[in-house]
Amino acid sequence: MSSVNGNPRVLVTGAGGFIGHHLTKHLVEKGIWVRGVDLNYPEYEPAAAHEFEILDLRRWSDCLRATRGIDHVFNLAANMGGIGFIESNKAVIMHDNVLINIHMLEAARLNGVSKYLYTSSACVYPGYLQKDADVTPLKESDTYPAEPEDGYGWEKLFTERQCRHYGEDYGLRTYVVRFHNIFGPLGTYDGGREKSPAAICRKVALAADGEEIEVWGDGKQTRSYCYVSDCVEGICRLMELDFHEPLNLGQDRMVTVNDLVDIVANVAGKRIRKRYDTSKPQGVRGRNADLTLMKKVLDWEPRVPLERGLEMTYQWIERQLRVAHSSRVLNGTRAVG
Ligand code: NAD
Repeated sequence: MSSVNGNPRVLVTGAGGFIGHHLTKHLVEKGIWVRGVDLNYPEYEPAAAHEFEILDLRRWSDCLRATRGIDHVFNLAANMGGIGFIESNKAVIMHDNVLINIHMLEAARLNGVSKYLYTSSACVYPGYLQKDADVTPLKESDTYPAEPEDGYGWEKLFTERQCRHYGEDYGLRTYVVRFHNIFGPLGTYDGGREKSPAAICRKVALAADGEEIEVWGDGKQTRSYCYVSDCVEGICRLMELDFHEPLNLGQDRMVTVNDLVDIVANVAGKRIRKRYDTSKPQGVRGRNADLTLMKKVLDWEPRVPLERGLEMTYQWIERQLRVAHSSRVLNGTRAVG
């Protein structure tokens, strides 16, 4: 198989997206040759990959093209978003992601790929274990009997199984990580696909000191959050190993959504009041990651504290909003003038 300076040739799918772009930058900085593939170029920065192809991985021919001459695949491409998006787009999410993942695995096999990583999600865990805010952290073996998040979570679980079968039947070395709420700069922060940390940063950035922001639910639902640089390091460490069972990747510091708002308000130096909208989608009541297996397998754990991660994310989103605002003002002035 071809390699560049002794390194594998790597494909990152979803390289125009949040984690895929961070991962691509990280690999390129390490001197690894990367082909990025996505429906779109990265939104907020130029692409970092040596080669970037705009392809639609729902199509079989595009998957074959994406995987040609590739040793290792990081398959991150997915039609996805925050809870508001995944609860109201189940059919298209399952349709698109099943096609992407079924075609990508088979194309990788035919093109002689040796290692293949699939990014699964905490959404595979059963709803019946996540009914209390004070939830027991979820461990990898909790997945069955299955009752994953409807739509998005079912597709993730289905593809996890298919990765297992490609290992068993064809010897493809597949890796499955279950991300738990990854956040950071350069991620979607508006438009309906954003997740809670980015949405809260945006709302706080747009609010004046002492103002109120809308919080989905009663704010007492719990989650854990992991900063994107830790996520990227975790997946790269996993790809070096010979471990092929699903593995949690995240943090295990459980906070409420109320806590999240307070931390962001503190970072922003604003007093923020909360207005609860319990008609909005909230997802499971409580979710936290059991990281026992992750720490053992990777001999490592995420390092970036939630406060520091939110500070970097808030500052980036606040800057984005400021730049967007000044260009609107500028365009408005031009239109008048
Ligand atoms: P993202 O939406 O920012 O990136 C996904 C990328 O996939 C997008 O750029 C999108 O354009 C691309 N894509 C979608 N359909 C495509 C197609 N048909 N062909 C080619 N590209 C296509 O999401 P992300 O947060 O970077 O997530 C990356 C992966 O991690 C996804 O598989 C996601 O399900 C998984 N994940 C993320 C989180 C999280 O907290 N961000 C949590 C659990 C799992």
